[in-house]
Amino acid sequence: MIEAVCAFLFGLLIGSFLNVCIWRWPRDLSVVWPGSRCVACGHPIDWFDNVPLLSYAWLGGRCRHCRSGIYWRYPVVELVTGLLFAVGAWKWGMSPAAAKFMLFAAMQVGMIFSDLETRLLPDEFTKGGLVIGLAAAWVAPLEDGIAGALATLYTGQGPSPRMLSLFEAGLAAAVASGSMWGVAWLYGKVRHREGLGFGDVKMVAMMGAFLGMRVLLAIFAGCILGTVLGAGYAAWKKKDLASYELPFGTFLGIAAIGVALLG
Ligand SMILES: [Zn+2]
Repeated sequence: MIEAVCAFLFGLLIGSFLNVCIWRWPRDLSVVWPGSRCVACGHPIDWFDNVPLLSYAWLGGRCRHCRSGIYWRYPVVELVTGLLFAVGAWKWGMSPAAAKFMLFAAMQVGMIFSDLETRLLPDEFTKGGLVIGLAAAWVAPLEDGIAGALATLYTGQGPSPRMLSLFEAGLAAAVASGSMWGVAWLYGKVRHREGLGFGDVKMVAMMGAFLGMRVLLAIFAGCILGTVLGAGYAAWKKKDLASYELPFGTFLGIAAIGVALLG
């Protein structure tokens, strides 16, 4: 229980940092310098006005200086990241597997909101995430990997779990991005317009490195989620579905977190 509470507080801090990334990376700005400032008036934000969740509450959701509203995404990203970290700690305890899940979930939250707001998936999350995911496959090997199970079945005795995990992560990244690229190509051929961006292709490669072959399940769930929610939203807002650009990365990210949690 105490682990989950600590993880929640840590997740709030990471969520606060993610908010900076979500705003700055799609705009090619540094996340290190300058310090946090109000996106409306540019006034630097003091540390006591930058406490996750609490500051939003005691400032009444408004900037102290210009009184313009603070976007709802700020407290939401902090809360969601905190909760995901708590769930990870509760499920895996203080272990490499928990750390791996937290890293993955944090980057997914970053991509979910980047895509929703800007229709962009920053390379820092996708390409950077792919490298981190492959390293994580070695440090915290995939449990019940499909490729590993098959290799063991054929040879009777498989290579080391770390080697198998790394192999599966690389294979899953290649298969996921290859099939996503194929879908994008087909979509462009059939509808004569670009429907999926290359960002999605890089995003599923990153997901494959973390999830192994279960990434295919996440892609499938993301497609269903995107179709149902996207069509529903377009109908509700009375937008033309053919011209409405779906934040597909947002749905992929939600599905990816679900698959990582449920296994
Ligand atoms: Zn302001």
